[in-house]
Amino acid sequence: MIVEMRRGATTDEVDGVVQRAESLGLNVQLNLGTDKTVVAILGSNTGQLSTDTFAVLPGVESITRIMKPYKLASREFKAEDSLVSVSGIEIGSDRIVVMAGPCAVESEEQLAKAAKVVKEAGACILRGGAFKPRTSPFSFQGMKKAGLELLGRIKEQFGIPVITEVVDPHDVSLVSKYADILQIGSRNMQNYPLLTDVGRNKRPVVLKRGFSCTVTEWLTAADYLLSEGNTQVILCERGIRTFEDSVRFSLDISSIPVIKRFSHLPIIVDPSHAAGHYSLVPAIAKAAVAAGADGLLIEVHPNPKEALIDGLQSLTPSDFARLMGELRAIAKSVGRYI
Ligand code: PEP
Ligand code: MN
Repeated sequence: MIVEMRRGATTDEVDGVVQRAESLGLNVQLNLGTDKTVVAILGSNTGQLSTDTFAVLPGVESITRIMKPYKLASREFKAEDSLVSVSGIEIGSDRIVVMAGPCAVESEEQLAKAAKVVKEAGACILRGGAFKPRTSPFSFQGMKKAGLELLGRIKEQFGIPVITEVVDPHDVSLVSKYADILQIGSRNMQNYPLLTDVGRNKRPVVLKRGFSCTVTEWLTAADYLLSEGNTQVILCERGIRTFEDSVRFSLDISSIPVIKRFSHLPIIVDPSHAAGHYSLVPAIAKAAVAAGADGLLIEVHPNPKEALIDGLQSLTPSDFARLMGELRAIAKSVGRYI
């Protein structure tokens, strides 16, 4: 249930709503918007509660029952777009934020080369996995702590913030020592203990869409992060599993306007894991920007032929630089810039 306060409602009136909810054993979250305060009433039994419980209280303007399972990620809770700020870079504004780099951190030389080329081409955040969630337990699992240390060094050397994945709740504080953005991978979108710990940690987070999950499930997973007080949430569409097998995953381009309609959270797109092949990445990336994505997460390797993971879908430095030029033109045509 969402309680919208009148414009200019006093602190006492807002407190009155909070206290009434708490007296019924319900939790609340406040959105102190520029225009008006909105109170989300959270709890499994709000469906049985009469809206009059809150409608009668002073300062209350209207009540909306949320039939959707997610609340805090919804536009009803927060009408204006959310901005996520990472080292002064805003995600969700007119600037399209490009995050690029290798699938996995492999060596200092590889990461340094990647940082140099992606930064020169105009990417403003470096990606690189230190913990890799692999389909097979026998595959390379990432450099782990050593990979994080490399990310920390390269980030200082090149003055570029980094995004890296966390796969285990026990590693959240370790990973956040090095990461400017914590990435929750597709396979972990519904790993609730991980979401809870990352929500408590308060670092900006990219929540990738589970490849077999609906938009509703995705936004409900985002509520796990938001309900722990982490408002720095960025969604990432990375393709879903369909009957189509000519690509690794089918990029659901429509999820971009759907998310914009139902949620205030920024959304970026990973064309690399959807495509599975470097030749398809540019078209998907351009389509995402045209459709309103707030950013991109792209795999770039200094030498894809030698990549330990995902070489086939990684762009070479020159292909990436060319794509960035094309993306600038698309961004401009939709009133944005890179
Ligand atoms: C990744 O971005 O490194 C990754 C593993 O992607 P996904 O979780 O989308 O499969
Ligand atoms: Mn990858």
